[in-house]
Amino acid sequence: ASSAAALNEIGKQHVTNGLGRISEGILSKGSGSYVEYLDGKKMLDFTCGIGVTNLGHCHPRVSKAAADQCMNLVHGQCSIAFNEPYLRLIERLLPAMPHPSLDSFFFWNSGTEAVEGALKMARVLTGRQNIIAMQGGYHGRTYGSMAVTKSKTIYSDGAAPLMPGVFSIPFPYWHQHGLPTSAPTSVLTEQSLYQLHLLLSQQTSPNDTAAIIVEPVLGEGGYIPAPKEFLEGLRAVCDQHGILLIIDEVQCGFGRAGSWFFIEQSGVKPDILLMAKGLANGFPLSGIVSRKELTDKLIPGSMGGTYAGNAVACAAACAVADAFREEDILSNVQARSKQLFAALHTLKDDQTLSPYILDVRGSGLMVAMEFASSEGPGAAFDPATPKGLSVKKGMASRVAKKCIEKGMLLLTTSVYEVVRFIPPLNVSEADMKKGCDIFAESVREVVR
Ligand code: PMP
Repeated sequence: ASSAAALNEIGKQHVTNGLGRISEGILSKGSGSYVEYLDGKKMLDFTCGIGVTNLGHCHPRVSKAAADQCMNLVHGQCSIAFNEPYLRLIERLLPAMPHPSLDSFFFWNSGTEAVEGALKMARVLTGRQNIIAMQGGYHGRTYGSMAVTKSKTIYSDGAAPLMPGVFSIPFPYWHQHGLPTSAPTSVLTEQSLYQLHLLLSQQTSPNDTAAIIVEPVLGEGGYIPAPKEFLEGLRAVCDQHGILLIIDEVQCGFGRAGSWFFIEQSGVKPDILLMAKGLANGFPLSGIVSRKELTDKLIPGSMGGTYAGNAVACAAACAVADAFREEDILSNVQARSKQLFAALHTLKDDQTLSPYILDVRGSGLMVAMEFASSEGPGAAFDPATPKGLSVKKGMASRVAKKCIEKGMLLLTTSVYEVVRFIPPLNVSEADMKKGCDIFAESVREVVR
């Protein structure tokens, strides 16, 4: 077998440059809150593979369910016949839906596929073409999902023309409105909804608008929970005009933001709910959930995919749902979320650090710290960096890099200076403390 050095060379020479990476080395093992590189180096994982391994790496129950399924049936193609875990999974998910009307499922492999399916369904079911997305939103890297992605231009740079008929409004986040950080949530919400009303009277008539797609917690756009009133406002506009509301919980769903789905905290009813990532704890699986009354109108054969609803992935997801309930994962999310917020607020309240820190925010274990920036998009015009605030160039990536040097994987997010915490939902109190300590040391070293 080739040595680690030889494998690294293959990575350097033979993997597309289109793939970016935050750490060197080759992952070879994972267990609970830790991953291990081929050279034996162990890292505390506060990325969870971008919010996927929510129950920790290689959760015994999930791995066993997948291994057992491998010995029974690996591929039961869903246009040929249902596979058993596919239906057992629906049985487990139905009681977890944020609204009882969500009763019709379609499973796919990735988040972007779920988005593509939802966009297609919205057009087919309404007979309308246009889609409204959020500035700062992220939905994937295929053509429809790229068109509704508005978090960073790198995802579609040079790739146009994208899917036509996409409009956008600012998400209720001060940067998106050019307002200071002190702007109250109610003002941000009003401004965003005002832009939606303008859009519907100036650019895309309700008669031409099929759907609004929104992440209830903005992920790649900066980890910002949507105010309840904003989600209610979107619902009201959709109800008024027969527009479908697509709620993308690919990143914030499955306990990540403190409840099975974040949208249930607002009581708002999605017409289409999207899930992936944490759903199968690392096995490729996504889901589009809608109402039977709507999906009954789809032509049989118009939805499908060779690997859609793979039996092994569905068996793993059944084990995830069982572990969720039996291991009381949501109670741990609450306790560890409090612990994490307390640690981050201690930094924000520290006199030497506070001038560099703009914001601490999030929900559950989807948490971010935003640093001051003078280099961000439109910095010269952006009132979100208050005058007199200290700024270090590239602070978020410098802090994340320090954390990685000190043995903890941490990601940044958005075009602003934001680091995001995505620890396992069952992380122990001791590992959370360890992560917070590494982070605090890293921030101090970067500021120094
Ligand atoms: N929607 C959201 C909210 C996401 O965070 C992501 C992935 N980061 C996607 C869609 C796309 O998912 P995938 O990478 O599995 O295609």
